[in-house]
Amino acid sequence: MNPRREIWKLIEKRDVVELLHRSAVLHGHYCPGLALGVKGSYELVKRLGLRSEGMEDVLAVVETNNCASDGVQFVIGCSLGNNSLVFKDLGKTAFTLTERDGKGLRARVKNEASEQWSEKVEDFSNIFKKVVTKRAGDKEDKVKLLSLSEKASMVVVHTDPDKIFEFEEAQVKIPEYAPIHDSHICSECGEKVMATRTVEKDGNIFCLSCSDGGYSELTGFGIQKVGDN
Ligand SMILES: [Zn+2]
Ligand SMILES: [Zn+2]
Repeated sequence: MNPRREIWKLIEKRDVVELLHRSAVLHGHYCPGLALGVKGSYELVKRLGLRSEGMEDVLAVVETNNCASDGVQFVIGCSLGNNSLVFKDLGKTAFTLTERDGKGLRARVKNEASEQWSEKVEDFSNIFKKVVTKRAGDKEDKVKLLSLSEKASMVVVHTDPDKIFEFEEAQVKIPEYAPIHDSHICSECGEKVMATRTVEKDGNIFCLSCSDGGYSELTGFGIQKVGDN
């Protein structure tokens, strides 16, 4: 049984509103960013006719970790966990869908796209600045923001895609299928760890958190090297 049949059905029925509702279950709130991910992904899937089964045959590339990337993962079905998602830390709200031949289609959010919802949803920009940018605002402001944010997300869903996105063909460098590695046991913490994430010192094997070589971490700041000596 295909666990994504309902999503595919919604795509066939062009029900982008319902795709947004379902994606919000993952994302936690409605916002224009999530809606951009949902709408753009829907367009890419529809235009290329590709269906991901999460087996790395279909790949999605996202160019930043913002709200939109949750819409991409949910609607396209390429996720961090199934290794079909390529994350490029470029800080651009753009995503690409491709098969393994690397001939993809990229949707980039137009620079002036936010005019679409800031014009139609009065006060959204102001309350966003107050609550999110300045981290100010009381409980009431937060409730108001979530409500206006939902309205803004609906504007995105109902706007002509060519007003929000630039679509272009893109050649994607496809990674090999994700390798399966042996596991080792760290001689410090005793935890099982992928062989490629270990270091050897004086004949002992250590995980990266027990060694002092540092490792990469993905947070709201993007990919950063931490714990480096
Ligand atoms: Zn969001
Ligand atoms: Zn360890």
